[in-house]
Parts: sequence; structure tokens; C-alpha cells
Amino acid sequence: MTLSIPWYKNAIIYAVDVATFQDSNGDGIGDFPGLLSRLDYLADLGVTCLWLLPLCPSPDRDNGYDVTHYYEVDSALGTLDDFSEVVHQAGERGIRILVDLVMHHTSDEHPWFQAARRDRHSRFRSYYVWSDVPPPIESTQPVFPGEERSVWTYDQIAGAYYYHAFYHFEPNLNSGNPEVRAEILRVMDFWLCFGVSGFRLDSVNHMIDRKETSPPDGHGMLKEFRRHVARRHEDAVLLGEADVEQDKLAAFFGDSDELHMLYNFLLDSYLFLALARESAEPLARAVSLVPQVPVGGQWANFLRNLDELDLERLVEAERQDIYKAFAPEPRMRIYGRGTRRRLAPMLGERRRVEMAFSLLFSWPGAPLFVYGDEIGMGEDLSLDGRNAVRTSMQWSRDRHAGFSTIENGQPRKPVIADGGPFDYRRLNVADQTKDPESLLNWVKRLIAVRRGCPELGCGAMDVVETGEPAVFAHRCRWDNRELLAVHNLSGKDRTVSLRLHAGRSAMLAPLLSSDGRTERIEGRLLELDPYGYRWYRIDAREGR
Ligand code: MG
Repeated sequence: MTLSIPWYKNAIIYAVDVATFQDSNGDGIGDFPGLLSRLDYLADLGVTCLWLLPLCPSPDRDNGYDVTHYYEVDSALGTLDDFSEVVHQAGERGIRILVDLVMHHTSDEHPWFQAARRDRHSRFRSYYVWSDVPPPIESTQPVFPGEERSVWTYDQIAGAYYYHAFYHFEPNLNSGNPEVRAEILRVMDFWLCFGVSGFRLDSVNHMIDRKETSPPDGHGMLKEFRRHVARRHEDAVLLGEADVEQDKLAAFFGDSDELHMLYNFLLDSYLFLALARESAEPLARAVSLVPQVPVGGQWANFLRNLDELDLERLVEAERQDIYKAFAPEPRMRIYGRGTRRRLAPMLGERRRVEMAFSLLFSWPGAPLFVYGDEIGMGEDLSLDGRNAVRTSMQWSRDRHAGFSTIENGQPRKPVIADGGPFDYRRLNVADQTKDPESLLNWVKRLIAVRRGCPELGCGAMDVVETGEPAVFAHRCRWDNRELLAVHNLSGKDRTVSLRLHAGRSAMLAPLLSSDGRTERIEGRLLELDPYGYRWYRIDAREGR
């Protein structure tokens, strides 16, 4: 039977910041021609979708999330023609493009804000939210504690206070204003015309839950977005960044009529708790806490993104356990709620990195990872805030890691060259490409296996009893296929007895393993090496 599966159900998503991926013209800033030259690498890696971080012109005070023009690309990245070529050439290689849509706020340098602050009768005044009198003490805390004191800032030119949930240089767009909502749809149209496959909606929960700037029916606005993109491009998806409480999550999918995909922030917290405690219990908890996706919905699961690792959904004791394991020094932490480290240096051992990747890719949903994690890139804690994880891609041992040929000065975002284990001269794509045992080649194999397992994108999951607190086993079923994945979270050997089918035996055909064992096994006793993992396809038979 052939079933039509929406593409995003089994997408392998790779996050790229164009400015830090590959520079083609020696100005120290990554660009579209640079990305174009690396599309074969990405196709060979096996990813099927690129999430491109913000592309629009920006003073770059917030990694491009402070936009000054929605209908243009930043000239440092190239031209709209260059962008169009990237979309086209990626498509030729079976890779779709999602672009970041940042319309929760603009830069304070955006012409809309400049017009609004200069003339209270301008049509753009109501694109933002103002108060002539000092606003009452705001109960809503700024999103970046320690960096902003209030969500209101007085503007001398406007003679009024303006509202900003994030930084003071990012005034909130007033999506309660129908004209602003119409602008958002126009911006979507513009980018869809290039053939992109959808949008990452930045801060989408803040777009609908702020009484100052949100429409009365926030979810109604998301439905309007969904209807609009569906009319333009039936394959286009909306991927939402909604880091909210567990009981508010499912509402963002609506009745399959709001967002297609959501980042699985909740799972991420429990994945790290399980890794830190070397315990399966947090994963079982995640299974019960993360809402089921509706038909047509999907989770984008991830271990790390290019922001902080946000642990605010956990209680303090849990957060402390993660700090103790993965961010023991205060400089590794940020905002009192997370860490600013890359995956590989947090987890340390190679086999533990593999196990974490394996867990991510075996979890029902669409796996997402960020550029550089496939080679185990590190962080640079000497950089401010979240920039620690935004260093430039390490391609080779050449100067500036092959990222840029800049002669005078340094790349805008440096490469790691501290002489340590994450230095580009020790860790880069070129070396790992040649080494069959490298993390890069292992990730490539993992992706290939995942692409052959649609049950992980479409199936229902249940937890399999192992009787061993450090071992998590789960299976997914869909369309007469069934997959079993077993993960040893601890650094010690473990043997488990699996309870698969009462009264039935099962033949387990191996798909992936940490110790290279490839035999089919019958029965339920499994030996796992430290941080070991196994994936099997289950061939269930009636018991004898
Ligand atoms: Mg450049």
C-alpha cells in the first residue's frame, strides 16, 4: 500500500546560519554563494531540509533577529538572485528550505518604527504599542534577564514609551492591528515566491500571548496564517518556536489547522535530564508529558539549537543536576535557566555523543540538528552570551578553518583556534570525511538508517519495560512496520530483558548498533556496552 506522507513528517532538518557557514568572497562573512558551494556536502550528509537563520538586512545586534527590511536579503550574504539560486539548487538535490520569519518585533532601525516614532499620526504608529504615561510596574518579566530591566522604554523622539518583550532595540510589532497581520501575510507571499517550503515562526507564542500586542484571538491569527500559506503552496509548513508550558503546547497545532510543526522544547529538557542522571525515568516522563501530535502535525525534535539550552521547564533540583553534569562552571550558564554550550563538549565521550544522537533520531518526530554538531564542534566561552555556540564552521585545517580566505582581520564570527580538542586543526570536515570511523561518517550512516524508517515519522510510540533504570527502550509502529530502539544511558555495561509481546516471540533484525553487532536475535535478552544503543526492526511471530 502506498501512503501519501507529508514531507515534513520524515524531514531531517539542519540549521544553518548562512553568515557562519561558508564565506565565498573573503570578507569574513558567510554568504549564499558559499552555502551554494556546500550543498553537495549537505546532500551527501543526507539532510532533507535546511532551516536558514534570519537572512534579512539587520544591524545584527541580535544575530539577525532585529530586522530592518523584510523584502530583501542582507547584502553581506549576497543578493536575492543568489538566494534564489540556493533554493533552486537545494531543490535539485532534494533539499527544502525553511526561512526564519521574525515578525514578533522589528529592529528599532526599521523604517516603520522610524516613521512611527517621528509622527504620532503616521499609519505606522499603530504598528507598535505606545504609552504616553509611565506604564504600571510590569508583571511580565523581560525575556532576557540581566540584559533588560523593563519591557517598556521611553523614546525621546516619540515622546512616549514603547513596548518590547525582548531587547529595547526590538520594539514589538502590534499584531493586534489588522494592517500588521496583512503585512505578515505579504512577507510570507514574498518568500514563498522563491519556492521556499515554509517558515520558522520566531517567538510565535509571544505573538499571541501578550495582552499589549496580541490580537484578541491569537490562535485565530495562526489559523489565518495556515490558510494563507496553504493557498499559496500546498506543501508549505509553519514551524513554530513556542517554548511554553506543557498544557499550552497542543493548542499551537490547533485542530490540524494552525502550525504544522513545533520545536519540542519539552522533550529537549527531559533528554538532557536523562543524559545527566544516566536514567531512563525522565524519558518515560517525557513520553507522558509531550502531547500527541494531531494528524498532519509533527514535532521537530532536537538536542541543541543555536540559542541557549533552555531548562526552564524543569524544577530547580533537576536543573542543578544538568548544570553539575554539563555546565559545572558559572560561565557555561546563561539567564539562570540554561547553558551556552555545544553538544559534543557537554557530553564528552564520543560514544555518549553517538548515543544522544541515536536517541534523538529514534524519537518519533523529525530530527533537527545544527551545523557543526555532525563533526562535534565545540563552543567559545570567551564570546558574549549565546554567541558561544555560533562560531564559524570548521571545514579544514586551512587558515580560518577553510571558512574564509579573509586576509586582513578575522571572520566576523571566529573559528575555534585555542589549541584544544575542538581547535579546527584537530576537528574539521576534511579530516573526518577521510576517516571512515569519524563522527561525521557515523552521523551520515545514522541519517541513512533514519530515512529508511518512516515509522519514526508517522508511528505511535510506546515504552518497553527493561527492568533496568539506566536503559530506555521504546518502539514505534506504523503501516505494518515496527521498530525497537534500546539506549543505555549509563557509562556501564547493562543487560536487559525486554518484554515485547506477551505470548509471542520476536525476531529482531538489526538496523543500527553501537558495538557493530549485526546478527538477528531471537528472544529478549540484550547486552549493551556503556552508552550503547541498538535499533531493530521487529519481525513478530506467533509464539511456539
Ligand atoms: Mg562573504
